[in-house]
Amino acid sequence: MFRALVVDKVDDGVVADLRDVDERELPEGDVTVDVAYSTVNYKDGLAVTGRGPVVRRYPMVPGIDFAGTVAESRHPDFSPGDAVVLNGWGVGESHWGGYAAKAKLPGDWLVPLPPAFTPAQAMAIGTAGYTAMLAILALEHHGISPDRGEVVVTGANGGVGSIAVAVLGKLGYRVLASTGRPEEADYLRRLGTAEIIDRKELSSPGKPLGRERWAGAVDAVGSHTLANVLAATRYGGVVTACGLAQGMDLPASVAPFILRAVTLVGIDSVMAPKELRLKAWSRLAADLPVDKLQTMTTEVGLGGVPQVAQDILAGRVRGRVVVDVKR
Ligand code: NDP
Repeated sequence: MFRALVVDKVDDGVVADLRDVDERELPEGDVTVDVAYSTVNYKDGLAVTGRGPVVRRYPMVPGIDFAGTVAESRHPDFSPGDAVVLNGWGVGESHWGGYAAKAKLPGDWLVPLPPAFTPAQAMAIGTAGYTAMLAILALEHHGISPDRGEVVVTGANGGVGSIAVAVLGKLGYRVLASTGRPEEADYLRRLGTAEIIDRKELSSPGKPLGRERWAGAVDAVGSHTLANVLAATRYGGVVTACGLAQGMDLPASVAPFILRAVTLVGIDSVMAPKELRLKAWSRLAADLPVDKLQTMTTEVGLGGVPQVAQDILAGRVRGRVVVDVKR
């Protein structure tokens, strides 16, 4: 038996309970992992509260990320004792996830834990941080570098935003952080922000084109914010879109694309190929200052997850929350 947070359907929504689960109930897979840590991402908030259509079948163990040690393996790349990380692939949505002491899944979904990180640190990064790195790799791939100009990060106090700010700052970019929580300005400056932008400047309907302000963007917010980010991107600049914290819509015009040659790049972490995951994790090991990771992280036990799920959807979580699944 092992302990898990299980989400089940009830008449008026879903209910999340801590339960002891029989190992024989684990889903199919060629690797079994003793999970040490998981984390709470925005998507986990939707899964645990039932406020978004994330869970595809019930009962479900949510948790789109975990780090732990291989217990049993029939996969050629993994042996018992190997430290591993899992992000996405539908885990915590259609396949049981990380809010449990054990997980079983196809080994092709796992990546080795980079030696630079402990399992808890890997989960302080989690899907949010790995997605931030995918966005930064995309900026680089499309020719952005610190000498091209500033980079704006929206939703800066959130998980994607905090890690993006810390990595971009370390890489030498002048980082502009857009936030609705100006009271966290000191936190954002410590992470690597040069200038704070009040998110109200970006979140209302704007003009098709505005003053050219930044060469690149990491947008976790979508909707009017993404439209306004595009409208203020310099000639030839690059905007990466990974999130929808404000909304899934994109009320924009083609003006930034056809008059300023702006590139809009979509970022997906869930189905990203293994090669790209390995690259993102190795760049995180090289370019994410571990001391900054500590300042942006809090920790809860499995029983604390439902409250954090509510908080993250309400925009009350700063940085990242790690889940000690044994606590
Ligand atoms: P968080 O909740 O940690 O951060 C989101 C941040 O967005 C908040 O902290 C807040 O920042 C800002 N925000 C919240 N509500 C609003 C609003 N109504 N209008 C404008 N800004 C708002 O989530 P994550 O960082 O984990 O994820 C961010 C987004 O990225 C989510 O939409 C998530 O689903 C998506 N995502 C997508 C992935 C992919 O593969 N494409 C992977 C991971 C995440 P502040 O207080 O600073 O304004």
